[in-house]
Amino acid sequence: MKKVNLVKEKNVSVFKARCGSCFHDFEMPQLSAMQSYGEYIFSSEDGKVYAYAHAFSASSKLIQVILPKDIGAENFQVALAGLADRILGRSMTNRKHCPNCHSTSTSALDTKVGEWSIPEVQYSGLISMDRDDVIEHVLNFAKENFS
Ligand SMILES: [Zn+2]
Repeated sequence: MKKVNLVKEKNVSVFKARCGSCFHDFEMPQLSAMQSYGEYIFSSEDGKVYAYAHAFSASSKLIQVILPKDIGAENFQVALAGLADRILGRSMTNRKHCPNCHSTSTSALDTKVGEWSIPEVQYSGLISMDRDDVIEHVLNFAKENFS
């Protein structure tokens, strides 16, 4: 039997965006204020790949309960991005990067140009580890990034 890997996708609005460093114009997916509670869009450091994450998914919750309690909302996102599976060989970050110069000083403009279907982040690498290794991996990530 073939193993089917079902990756959820989400339709998100795409806006014109501009890089504050190199002034490159590009297109960037953005969640509306109404739909964005507990939801994030991550991007690869080269700004070429986007993924969607949800703070209340089972994997996110697992990561949350292992992480130290007081790391804060921003660091929680950093961990959700950093612990996710690579997509097309790229690790994810919780910032949006310019696809031209990779700077994070990007901002979406008001002009909506369409919709993209972007994949939800997966944690199959993390989930496939043994229990103790999952805990150690998440705690090591916290130690390396938040202290
Ligand atoms: Zn740029």
